[in-house]
Order: sequence, then C-alpha cells, then structure tokens
Amino acid sequence: MPFPEKISACFASKFSVGKNCPLKMQVKFSEKENIKTNGFVRDPTGDKKAEIESGILQKYKGRLLVMASNECALHCRFCFRKNLEKKKIQNLPAKLHKILREDKSIKEVILSGGDPLMLDSDELQAIFKAIPKNIRIRIHTRLPVALPSRFTPTLLHLFKQLGQRLIFVAHVNHPNELDKKSEKIFRALTKIGIVVLSQSVLLKGVNDSAKILTELFEKLFSQGVLPYYLHQLDKAGGTAHFEVPMKQAKSIFRELKENLPGYLVPRFVKEVKGARAKVWVNSKIL
Ligand code: SF4
Repeated sequence: MPFPEKISACFASKFSVGKNCPLKMQVKFSEKENIKTNGFVRDPTGDKKAEIESGILQKYKGRLLVMASNECALHCRFCFRKNLEKKKIQNLPAKLHKILREDKSIKEVILSGGDPLMLDSDELQAIFKAIPKNIRIRIHTRLPVALPSRFTPTLLHLFKQLGQRLIFVAHVNHPNELDKKSEKIFRALTKIGIVVLSQSVLLKGVNDSAKILTELFEKLFSQGVLPYYLHQLDKAGGTAHFEVPMKQAKSIFRELKENLPGYLVPRFVKEVKGARAKVWVNSKIL
C-alpha cells in the first residue's frame, strides 16, 4: 500500500459502530482505492509544476505555500497529495529567509504538508523566526480533531507570540470529529487573538448532505471557528469513490445557503490546475 493506513488513537476513539461510520470511511483503506478512474491523476492540483524549489510552491499572487512537514497524524484516504512523494525540506528556515528577502511581493506564508504541526516546537519556532514580522502566517492543520495532545502550553506560547499574524485553518469534515478537546483548543486560540477558520472537503458517504454540513458549520461556530472553505474533491488517483457529482454538490450547497446565515456559509471552491486563484463553484465560471 503506497499510502498506508494511519489513524490516531484520538480520531479512532470517535468512531461509531458499523462500517458506515463517517469518520472510519475517511481513514480506513478501501479496495476502491485500487480502481483506476479516468480523470483521477497523481497530482490533480498541479503542485509539482508550481514548485519554486522542492516543497515550496508559488501558486497564487502574494502567497507562498510551504510543505513544512512530510507527516500527518492521519492518512485521509481522499487526500489530494496521497500519491505524491513527501520529503522533509532540508534547511527550511534558511531557504524561507532567502526567498522572502528576495521577493517582497509575498504577504503570506501558508504552512501545509503533511501537517505542519507535526513538526516539533523548536522546528516551528525556527520557521516563524525566518518569516519577517510584516508577513502573515497561515497554518492548515487537522490536529485539533486528530491529535489534540499536540497543543501543549509551549505550542500555544509560540502562537501567542505571533498573535494576529497567525491565521489558523482547521480541517474538519464531519460534526462527530468535534468534541470537548477540539473546543478547548479553539477557545485557547481565540483567547490569544488568533483568527480561527475551518476547511472541509465534500465527501460522498461522509458529509454529502445539507443536513450534515449545516450541523458541522453550526457546531464549528459554537466552538469559536468560522467556516472558510468547502472544497469540491480534488481528483487524485484512488479517490473517485469519494466524489460527489458537481450537479449534486451544487444542489447541496444551495440548500446549505438556505439553512444558514451568510456568515456560516463557507466559500464552496474547486481548485483548477494552473488557475491563479481558487474557483468559486457558485460563480458564473462553473
Ligand atoms: S495532508 Fe491533510 S488531508 Fe492529507 S492526509 Fe494529511 S491530514 Fe489528511
């Protein structure tokens, strides 16, 4: 198995009984992953082409995307990077420092991965130090629902030093992923002035109904998180069984908009290879 199963004890503790558990479906290997489907490819978002050097990408104006870590607490079976080789970037702080010194157009560094919070606190601190104070830092992570024990006082202290420069984006797909532990983390982050947002992927059999998504976004907000992105699945090889057809996806999103106040409706987006920004699905383009 090129992308072996990996499931944290915390995530597994939230499984419900039966094979249709929406959390199990996200992380348990399925034979369906071996089915080859037209249009589902190794690198659906064009990460490799956007690399300015190994693991550092410039896709969108003013933003630098950094694969800061090659590890995750979970291996999500639908991950759009599941087929890409993940290498740890050597001397990342020095490389970042050089790029940011030479390119003054960059206003935000996005730390992704893998999961950037799988790095230890010393490694994170070195990265933060390499980023000038006028540049925002965005962290995309699954750890509040997958590995809450990572949010130690040391990590929170590091975040506190960044204050409003830090934008925290938690990846959560189903209301059952949220619990008292995730709430404690989100509350601690908002208390120290950090903007906390969410991103979710629309997944067949997991959250493909307006009812479940309504509950998810309401619950996120009740824990202090503002819904930011709902992604249409990126077509990575071996993930076709998670795809919600676009017509159905649009219908779910329309119903979602009727169910929720505007500020709880995330932007429904699709990544288009080579595009200079994410495409909003409800726009006239699609
Ligand atoms: S990068 Fe994110 S979506 Fe992909 S396996 Fe890791 S935690 Fe899951």
